[in-house]
Amino acid sequence: MDHFPIFVNLKGRRVVVSGAGETAVAKLRLLLKTAATISVYGLDVHPDIRTWAEAGKLRLSARPLQEGDATCAVLLYGANDDPAEDRRVAEIGRRAGAMVNIVDNLAESEFITPAIVDRDPVTVAIGTEGAAPVLARRIKAQVEEALPQSIGALARIGQGFRKQAEALPMGRRRRDFWSRFYFKRGPQALAKGGEIAAREALSELLDDSLNARADLGRVFLIGAGPGDPELLTLKARALLHEADVVIHDQLVTQPILELARREAIVVETGKKGFGPSWKQDDINALMIKHAAQGRHVVRLKSGDPTVFGRLDEEMDALDDAGVAWEIVPGITAASAAAASMGASLTKRGRNSSLRILTGHDMQGFAEHDWRDLAKPGATAAIYMGKRAATFIRGRLLMYGAPDNKPVTVVENASRPDQKILSTTLLALPELLTAARVDGPAILFLGMSPRAALEAADEIADKKTEIL
Ligand code: SAH
Repeated sequence: MDHFPIFVNLKGRRVVVSGAGETAVAKLRLLLKTAATISVYGLDVHPDIRTWAEAGKLRLSARPLQEGDATCAVLLYGANDDPAEDRRVAEIGRRAGAMVNIVDNLAESEFITPAIVDRDPVTVAIGTEGAAPVLARRIKAQVEEALPQSIGALARIGQGFRKQAEALPMGRRRRDFWSRFYFKRGPQALAKGGEIAAREALSELLDDSLNARADLGRVFLIGAGPGDPELLTLKARALLHEADVVIHDQLVTQPILELARREAIVVETGKKGFGPSWKQDDINALMIKHAAQGRHVVRLKSGDPTVFGRLDEEMDALDDAGVAWEIVPGITAASAAAASMGASLTKRGRNSSLRILTGHDMQGFAEHDWRDLAKPGATAAIYMGKRAATFIRGRLLMYGAPDNKPVTVVENASRPDQKILSTTLLALPELLTAARVDGPAILFLGMSPRAALEAADEIADKKTEIL
């Protein structure tokens, strides 16, 4: 991010616009929404600028900007549509200590004006660092659609009620009160009885909230899915957005964590590289501590929390401490990886059951029903299987699995750096090393990706033809 978004209070501050044509008019339309003191300098004055000047909305000097004109200005716009002239006035602006924007010239500007959705006092600013104005316009249109005009009215009414709302303790209870107003009671009341009704709704809601007994904290054990934030459930997303505390495993990706509120306490418990990971007891204690303070705690685990998520230990600890909890399922790595392979996890005629295995458990490499797994057509999704690959191969070959039993490795499923490797049981451990599979990976025993299957079918067809 090169351009840091901020909202500047322009009330009573000086803004200078050099240029008086169409380009200047476009900027002035935005600037006139503020309470800035605006001065325009330029020849060939556009009629709109004249009208605004006559109405006292801005000060017009029908001549080029000169040294001294930008004194005390905080912002200066070069809107002359003339690179040489814009450069000249930009220098004057800089010497006067103003921040300078040359319209449509990112390289020579200190700041840029974003696309704006105006629901005063709610303002949404959209910027793409100049990379994609078309995209900004598209997003603007979508945001316009998502923000009804009534949002502005509700925000204004809410603004006038902030003092009274301080009767509620800061934090969750106050936030809940406001979200109920903005997203439920407020819009309903406004639609039925206008602003007066919305104000009444606010007072009623405050009474209700003050009378409600203090909320106890709760822990949500949430599946974050395999990494792609679009694969989060809507429920997970909403709860994450509401969370006071987010306690997450190392496999939870950054784009997902960014959905948490800025004020939320975010704690990572997994190990990074060879760093230490948290003890389960410490994680439990942390969840309980925050919940006891009435906080809304999100315990975020990769994939689905009920699959190799050490969930039971956490549920037991929460039960013992009398803390309420709820599980929100997520998309497990095997589902995401199968989707990436373009393959089904079950298939008529191939496998009517699927095993979900772990490569190692508390005792070390995990033992399974190898005889059954070695049978033709047997399939399994193996989690945490990388380090156990040689062991798994040894066991399966010992129980009669063919050397060429297909194995597909999906690393970083659903993430930008996803890799799909198609191999055989015999070649598996060496492939994992050679391909440097460092990220989280699922091993699919007895399954090939769709493309590989098709290629194999083609070869088989050709052989038949030759024969
Ligand atoms: N609860 C998780 C599994 C946690 S165990 C789930 O349901 O997916 C951790 C193992 O999950 C990793 O060792 C790896 O085998 C697998 N895994 C997690 N995320 C993955 C991803 N994006 N791609 C491939 N495998 C993944």
